[in-house]
Amino acid sequence: MIKKVLISNRGEIAVRIVRACAELGIRSVAVYTEPDRYGLHVKRADESYSLGEEPLQGYLDPLKIVNLAIQTGCDAIHPGYGFLSENAELAALCEKKGITFIGPKSTVIAKMGDKTQARKTMQAAGVPVTPGSDGNLDNLEHALEVAESIGYPVMLKATSGGGGRGIRRCDSAKELTTQYPRVISEATKAFGSADVFLEKCIVDPLHIEAQIIGDSQGNVIHLFERDCSIQRRNQKLIEIAPSPQITPEQRQYIGELAIRAAKSVNYESAGTVEFLLTGNEVYFMEMNTRIQVEHTITEQITGVDIVQEQLRIASGKPLRYQQQDIQFHGFALQFRINAEDPKNDFLPSFGRVTHYYAPGGPGVRVDTAIFTGYEIPPFYDSMCLKLIVWALNWEDALSRGKRALDDMRLHGVKTTANYYQQILSHPEFINANFNTSFVNKNPELLSYSDKRHPSEIALALAAAIAAHISE
Ligand code: ADP
Ligand code: ADP
Ligand code: MG
Repeated sequence: MIKKVLISNRGEIAVRIVRACAELGIRSVAVYTEPDRYGLHVKRADESYSLGEEPLQGYLDPLKIVNLAIQTGCDAIHPGYGFLSENAELAALCEKKGITFIGPKSTVIAKMGDKTQARKTMQAAGVPVTPGSDGNLDNLEHALEVAESIGYPVMLKATSGGGGRGIRRCDSAKELTTQYPRVISEATKAFGSADVFLEKCIVDPLHIEAQIIGDSQGNVIHLFERDCSIQRRNQKLIEIAPSPQITPEQRQYIGELAIRAAKSVNYESAGTVEFLLTGNEVYFMEMNTRIQVEHTITEQITGVDIVQEQLRIASGKPLRYQQQDIQFHGFALQFRINAEDPKNDFLPSFGRVTHYYAPGGPGVRVDTAIFTGYEIPPFYDSMCLKLIVWALNWEDALSRGKRALDDMRLHGVKTTANYYQQILSHPEFINANFNTSFVNKNPELLSYSDKRHPSEIALALAAAIAAHISE
């Protein structure tokens, strides 16, 4: 078994990995750049090392991280999500230097990280993909030609994209002409690659993704699906497992497709195969070769600790489960609590968390790295907390979500929590009848009043008085 893991990440996912290591008796090593010196992952890991002053660079430097792992006696690196998690160079360096990379082989990461190559691989494996360009686009003329042949609307997408960025819907040749240079410029800045491709835009689809785990012996199983259709600007806000809006036949088909996709590349570790659904059509969209933000809800409905499984698989152990051992139970929802102001176009709202009270009670899980007094740095993702609820049936899961969101107190920054309360009260959501257009189609959900509890007002007053006295 792996003995000591360097976690090349920060925030809640670093803390999540520390916890899995602790439960397996594995030593954990945190790394941090200066703004994260007092971060929870630094406090919770067994050891911690600085990556330098600059907020981002250290987290993005494969050589520095591998060398640090070697110097500190680590035998493995867990990359979390974001940062270097889908960086084939880090995985390749680990392979070269004898460090275990907790994830698939570098060649698989490279293949799947390139969305056009991934599409080709899936087509060859008999997994249906969204109609689109054969590969990357040569120029605007090429783009217009492909768009004409597949029909508008189309999606112009960055080949190396991720995190919902570098994607634009184009409804006409005129729009495609305007968006073409914009997406290229965005892709170059965000992902260091100017490659773009086209897909047919599936109108009002469901985003359904399957969690898979595979071991180094070639066994692959799925842990059912998640419905991530509640999105804003192609970014997930609320995730649900299992999907409340697919049939058992669709569920089985999606699971089988995901396993076929994973087996076709000898996939090892945890991974996610993302699909778009419309009517009875299912299209492969992309594969994420890492732990995902929303792995939590799959853990809640199946009881499988996915991060622990990653650690076991990376240690060379065979899967502990066969497909028929995996059952799901009830419904789980995850609310991505972002430090953003929904009423101001979701503008990031960084700063000091003046007061945080964690929700709790039955069926509630919180994955976060914030605490009262924590200063949310402006350099990173605005997601600051994941609130996960579980209940035996859909109705109870919704009530539990409302209750838990109401339970939570998070002052000092604006968050998306109250907006989620609005979504939970919407009939289409309650009736499990929504798709990726839900947020856009319901702008009125943003005009709620930020009700403040008397206790909140008292707290704000007390804070103001304290600040006044200390001046
Ligand atoms: P998930 O796929 O797990 O649902 P997200 O798409 O929300 O997660 O991405 C999680 C984090 O990883 C975000 O901070 C996002 O910006 C980052 N990320 C994802 N893909 C990429 C990528 N290709 N390049 C850079 N950052 C990425
Ligand atoms: P990322 O790597 O940023 O996660 P994805 O390819 O997974 O990018 O797409 C993110 C989201 O964008 C999807 O969940 C979906 O809502 C939307 N999307 C992507 N491709 C299409 C498409 N061809 N048709 C309709 N919506 C799409
Ligand atoms: Mg995606």
